[in-house]
Amino acid sequence: MSRRTLIAGNWKMNLDRMSAIALAEAIAREAPAEDVDVAVFPPFVYMEAVRGVLERTPIAYGGQNMYFASSGAYTGEISGPMLIDMGARYVILGHSERRHIFGESSQLVGKKVAAAFEHGLVPVLCVGETIEQRRDGATQQVVFEQLGAGVAELSSDQVARMVIAYEPVWAIGTGETATPEQAQEVHADLRTWLTDRYNADIAGRVRIQYGGSVKPSNAAELLAQPDIDGALVGGASLEAESFLAIIAAGKA
Ligand code: PEP
Repeated sequence: MSRRTLIAGNWKMNLDRMSAIALAEAIAREAPAEDVDVAVFPPFVYMEAVRGVLERTPIAYGGQNMYFASSGAYTGEISGPMLIDMGARYVILGHSERRHIFGESSQLVGKKVAAAFEHGLVPVLCVGETIEQRRDGATQQVVFEQLGAGVAELSSDQVARMVIAYEPVWAIGTGETATPEQAQEVHADLRTWLTDRYNADIAGRVRIQYGGSVKPSNAAELLAQPDIDGALVGGASLEAESFLAIIAAGKA
């Protein structure tokens, strides 16, 4: 089963308006359009500016989060229809920073994932264990719980179209990367879980990205693993040169 590689840049709460535009312009100018999908996730307030640059290019963009309700009295939140209105294609949900800093539960994330599909967005569901959970041998249990709750309200067709990002918490923003073997092991476990829950065809269509200190020097090795279908990149996506090098590794 061949899956199109997806290289995504999560800009988090970084950049300013001008540097966001400049970064989007450099990616639009230099990223190869064929063989690899590319997406960026700007801060909400810069999405309009990024849209101006990327609108008629093959580079997609999306939200770093959203709430599950369509509209209403939810001060500070952003809805699926608002992201669609801005031309977004994807939305990152359940990022470990949302789970661990902002206390989002797997059940809340599951509601958001279902709402994303309902509004026409492709969710990027993040799962991953902390270093303590890994040391305790609980990695499988943690990622299976997060995945199970994340897909709880989805049809099997939606599951096939979603993106999962395996992001070990201990590797995010730390410079420490899972080895290709460690990452592949969890990716294969996730795919086996999907096979058991749905079937091999659906499991074979789901794109599973790896995230956690991906950089130009380790991207090719990670992306060469059979069950790693792309990368969700934080720090190294803030500079055009390093992000483009990771995209190039995804194309290879
Ligand atoms: C992320 O933001 O999802 C991430 C993996 O960050 P970094 O690449 O900086 O570790």
